[in-house]
Amino acid sequence: MKIFNTLTRTKQEFVPLEEGKVKMYVCGPTVYNLIHIGNARPMIVFDTVRRYMEHKGYEVNFVSNFTDVDDKIIKKAIEEGVDASVISQRYIAECKKDMAAMNVKPATTHPLATEEICGMLDMIGDLIEKGHAYVAADGTVYFRTRSFKEYGKLSHKNLDDLQGGNRSLLVSGEDQKEDPLDFVLWKPKKDGEPYWESPWCNGRPGWHIECSVMSKKYLGEKIDIHAGGEDLVFPHHENEIAQSEAANGTEFAKYWMHNAFLNIDNKKMSKSAGNFFTVRDISEKYDLQVLRFFMLSAHYRSPLNFSADLMEAAKNGLDRMKTCVSSLNYAMENGAESDLTAAEAEKVEEAKQFMDRFDQAMDDDFNTADAISVMFELVKFANTAVGEGSTKAFAKVVCDLLLEMAEICGLILETKTEMLDAEIEDLIAQRQAARKEKNFARADEIRNELLEKGIILEDTREGVKWKRA
Ligand code: AMP
Ligand code: ZN
Repeated sequence: MKIFNTLTRTKQEFVPLEEGKVKMYVCGPTVYNLIHIGNARPMIVFDTVRRYMEHKGYEVNFVSNFTDVDDKIIKKAIEEGVDASVISQRYIAECKKDMAAMNVKPATTHPLATEEICGMLDMIGDLIEKGHAYVAADGTVYFRTRSFKEYGKLSHKNLDDLQGGNRSLLVSGEDQKEDPLDFVLWKPKKDGEPYWESPWCNGRPGWHIECSVMSKKYLGEKIDIHAGGEDLVFPHHENEIAQSEAANGTEFAKYWMHNAFLNIDNKKMSKSAGNFFTVRDISEKYDLQVLRFFMLSAHYRSPLNFSADLMEAAKNGLDRMKTCVSSLNYAMENGAESDLTAAEAEKVEEAKQFMDRFDQAMDDDFNTADAISVMFELVKFANTAVGEGSTKAFAKVVCDLLLEMAEICGLILETKTEMLDAEIEDLIAQRQAARKEKNFARADEIRNELLEKGIILEDTREGVKWKRA
């Protein structure tokens, strides 16, 4: 399995630190609002990475934080006249609902920044002791960036270029820094803000320190994979490396993975430009499985453009797969009882090759775009190879293959909810009406909709009969 490592800018063979195990940390959202569809991309992408690793037999310890103390959370709390924790708890609960609807598995651990302050105080103290951090007159603690010789290795930036670029960015208060490149580890509280006591001042942590601390606590000093969106490469992940490696004296993460951005109609998503969608907005129009399918239809390192047309195409693609699974289920119920025929046994070998090709695509830096193409090829194969006269056993082999691929992608292709008889009869009546009006497209659509829900229609001389698959 090869992973593109931002650190080396090459695809590298994945070798776990500990055989059979993967320690993975994904930077999670700041919880001051409903998550937007950009935030959904790393969630879906890295959940799929996790699922594929599990499919390969690895035990994955997957940690993803919620940043629950931050300027934006505090601003919203002040606007609503409530405690910051009310805001963060509210949006953590909403985020978990969205994750479930996108079939993103809960992390092994979802740590909260506010519950890990002790560990942050320890690491900051350690950094001060080792000369990598210092306390300014007002109690702010800064990381001494130049003390970490490898600073810039992830973002491939040169310290002197950074220094030139940063000088003009000095703002008031920052002149206490020894060097413009230094960044905040701990800052003094302002009125009305949540704060914690510390040896340096009553205050709160800078953003970067939380991930270094949580990753160490839940996964250990050295981990396999650290991941997030590409905007996090600099400064967030660069600063995490500096803090962790300076404090622990060992390499922080072996592989760094970053997803490219999601844009809307080829423009950057922004509230002010009016092209901003929350995951909840999308759920009003689509099952969030469609959003998941859409996200995986591109490779995670390619920019992805969101548009109404592409979402419709994703819906149609997903429907095609669901219809195939329903037909296979029908064949599994109604096919011949006998063992595989000789011709079927040959076809099984052909079908298994789709799984090998799916794995090859995923082994190549999780190329879900190619993996989904293979799924479509399997659908095409299933639609021609399985039909009247197939054995139940053959239908099951093909169906299991397709469902295994879907499970790795986190796509749910089977609708388990039972329809009520009255709902079914109502849809059959609508289908009859559509046929009378010669609207055969609508009639077929209703037939497929029913098939997806496991209802099979038979047009007989006595009228339409139906049964459950
Ligand atoms: P934030 O809450 O801004 O820290 O973002 C949480 C995660 O979402 C991070 O991994 C970001 O890199 C990622 N992210 C934010 N916006 C986008 C976007 N438009 N496309 C892809 N990933 C994004
Ligand atoms: Zn982080």
